[in-house]
Amino acid sequence: MSVDHVDTIVVGAGILGLAVAREVLARRPRERVLVVEREPRPAAHQSSHSSGVIHAGVYYAPGSLKARLCVDGAALMYAYCERHGIDARAIGKLIIALRRDELPALDELERRARANGVGGVRRLDADGLRAIEPHASGIAALHSPNTGIVDFGAVCARLATDLREAGAELRPRFEVVAVAAGDRTIRLRAGSGDELQGARAIFCAGLWSDRLAVLAGTDPDPRIVPFRGGYMRLRPERRELVRGLIYPVPDPSLPFLGVHLTPRIDGEVLLGPSALLAGARDGYRLSTLRAADIRDTATWPGTWRMARRWWRTGIHELRLAISREAFAAVAAQYVPDLRGEDLQPAFAGVRAQAVGRDGRLVDDFLLSATPRAIHVRNAPSPAATSSLALAAKIADAADQLP
Ligand SMILES: Cc1cc2nc3c(=O)[nH]c(=O)nc-3n(C[C@H](O)[C@H](O)[C@H](O)COP(=O)(O)OP(=O)(O)OC[C@H]3O[C@@H](n4cnc5c(N)ncnc54)[C@H](O)[C@@H]3O)c2cc1C
Repeated sequence: MSVDHVDTIVVGAGILGLAVAREVLARRPRERVLVVEREPRPAAHQSSHSSGVIHAGVYYAPGSLKARLCVDGAALMYAYCERHGIDARAIGKLIIALRRDELPALDELERRARANGVGGVRRLDADGLRAIEPHASGIAALHSPNTGIVDFGAVCARLATDLREAGAELRPRFEVVAVAAGDRTIRLRAGSGDELQGARAIFCAGLWSDRLAVLAGTDPDPRIVPFRGGYMRLRPERRELVRGLIYPVPDPSLPFLGVHLTPRIDGEVLLGPSALLAGARDGYRLSTLRAADIRDTATWPGTWRMARRWWRTGIHELRLAISREAFAAVAAQYVPDLRGEDLQPAFAGVRAQAVGRDGRLVDDFLLSATPRAIHVRNAPSPAATSSLALAAKIADAADQLP
C-alpha cells in the first residue's frame, strides 16, 4: 500500500473536476494537484454523453448560480475553444411555442433572458421562425443567436492536456471508497487499497457525488437520482430538415428542457434526450441494472414524493424510451416533415439529478463543505457550458475552507 501526499486532491475527471484542477493551478502554480478518476479515462460519464450545447443562459431564474455562471461560462467556453482550436459554433437556437397556452411561458423566458443579460434574443412570429428554420412550425418563438454547439469531450481532452502541462497528475482507475478528514489533512482510500493524503479535497463526482459526501460524513440530502436520457439521430439524408437548435417551451417546474433537435459539431442531428429513471448510475443501456443503485433510488423518500407528482410525465417518458414512433411524433410537432423512418437509435446519457428528501428536483448548482473538503452536490445542465465559470466558484469555496 502506498500513501501519496499532495496539496489539493480533485475527485472526478469530468469537465468540472478538470476545470477546477486547472483553476487551482492558475491560482497556485506551485501546488501539487492530483486528479483521481474511477474510470480508465477522463470524461467517461456525463461530460461525454451530452447534447453538446453551449447554452446562452435563457432559462434560468435571474439571480441563480445557473443564470450567472451560464452566461459567464458560455463566454469563457467560446474563448477557450477559440484559443485552443476546438470547433465551437454559435449556430443559434429557436424555442418554439406550438399553442397559445405556451405563450406566457415564452414571455417568461424572454424576461429571464433579458434579466440574465443574454445577448441578441429576439421574439419571432410564425413567419419569422420559418425564415430561420424553413422546415419548422409553431405560432411564435424566441431566437437566441449565441446558443451554440461543441464537443465537450474534446474540451475535456484539452483540459487534461493543460493540467499535465501545468504539472498536475491525473490518476485513472482510482475509485475513492473511503474518506477520513483530520485536523490538517484529508485521506482518501481507493478500492485497490492505495491511499492519498491532501491538505484539501474537492469532490466533483457527478453521478456518485452524494455517496462521496456521505462517506465524508455529511447529510444524505439531497440524493442523486439517475435519469437516463436516450437520443435518436436523423438519417444523414434527412439532416437538411434542421439548421440550428430547435427546442420546445419547457415545463418551468422541471429542470429538464424537453426533447430537442440538436445539430452536433460532427454533422449528426440528434433528437432527445428523454428523461427516464435509470436502473443504474451508469445505466446507459435500459437493461443495465445495479442493485445498490436501485436500492438507493427506491429507499429515498424524495423519489416517491417526486413520482407522486410526476407519474404522468414518467409514463410519457417511458413511451419515448421504448418507441421510435413516439419519439418522432414529439419531434414532428416542431418539424412536421419528420417521420419515424427518419430516425435511428443513437446513444444515451445519464443525468445526475439531485432530489431532496421532500421530492424537490434541486434546480440550481449546489455546493457543500465537510472538514477539509468541498462537494459539488448538484451540477446538471448547463454545468458543462458553465464549467469554466463554475470552477472559479468551486475554487473560491475551497479557498475559504478553514
Ligand atoms: C443526457 C445529457 C445531456 C446534457 N446536455 C448538456 C448540454 O447540452 N449542455 C450542457 O452544458 N450540459 C449538458 N449536460 C450536463 C453536463 O453534461 C453535466 O452537467 C456535466 O458534464 C457535469 O460534469 P461533472 O464533471 O460534474 O460530471 P461527470 O462528467 O459525470 O464527471 C464526474 C466524474 O467523477 C468520477 N467519479 C465518480 N465517483 C468517483 C469515485 N468514487 N472516485 C473517483 N472518481 C469518481 C466519474 O467517473 C466521472 O468521471 C447534459 C447531461 C446529460 C446526462
